[in-house]
Amino acid sequence: MGDHESEAVSKKQKRRRGSSDEERSLTLVRRPEHKQERVLYVGCEGESTEPDYLDYLVKRFGSGERTGQPFRIVPVCKANGLLPEQVVEAVRQYAAKDETWALFDRDEHTRIPQAVDDAAADGTEFCFSHPSFDLWLLLHFQAFGGQQSGKSTNVVDKLRKADPAFRRFDKKNDKSVQGPRRQALEGKTKAAIAHAKSLVSQCEHGACKVSHYQAAPVDRISPRNPDNLPQSPRKWAARSGHALDCKVLDRDPSTDVWRLLVSLGIEDD
Ligand SMILES: [Zn+2]
Repeated sequence: MGDHESEAVSKKQKRRRGSSDEERSLTLVRRPEHKQERVLYVGCEGESTEPDYLDYLVKRFGSGERTGQPFRIVPVCKANGLLPEQVVEAVRQYAAKDETWALFDRDEHTRIPQAVDDAAADGTEFCFSHPSFDLWLLLHFQAFGGQQSGKSTNVVDKLRKADPAFRRFDKKNDKSVQGPRRQALEGKTKAAIAHAKSLVSQCEHGACKVSHYQAAPVDRISPRNPDNLPQSPRKWAARSGHALDCKVLDRDPSTDVWRLLVSLGIEDD
């Protein structure tokens, strides 16, 4: 732990507690458990649903009280949305040397292979959802299966019926995840992760197994880590447990968003 960080920790504790004796004993007890706040830049195609959901994650879990790992997410998005490869490009631009993730779905399918190549080239983690991020929301309420061929209609219909808070989801452009919609998701994280994982093992390809997923973080190829070798896009795309030759666009239906949560230590709420 560097001097700078120690100073930051003790200042934080001073704010929390009063007497210096108490502060010293607290420091001794707490310091070994202290974990540095993790900072993630997360690029999103959408301008509403994904950034709202990420904000929900930060508010509910970011302090680290539930998970033991404090974190902060900086969403990178744009009014009117970004295309998949723009998501990867934008998140790199803003993150500098920090950790980068990209969320994109199947909508702009012709651009997905390029986005995966770009993500693999510098170690940007990506969470692909097929047909859309909305599937991840739906999985909080129920299991789901069957090819959707890129159409979100079925997913959105089911989501609207799953909870009154989502009854008007995606009507009049309201794709937000705020207020009662957040409350509706609470307590269902474990189920959502289980449902999303089961989609890996149910993949039509046949050789995809969620037990093959790779959790270990990989340092980004950045000016700070110039010696890291880029991953092959196929290997990078197989980190979710899908087989090396299971094409990303064939993973219908699927969503990798659970990997972001598991990586943050969020497995239950
Ligand atoms: Zn697969």
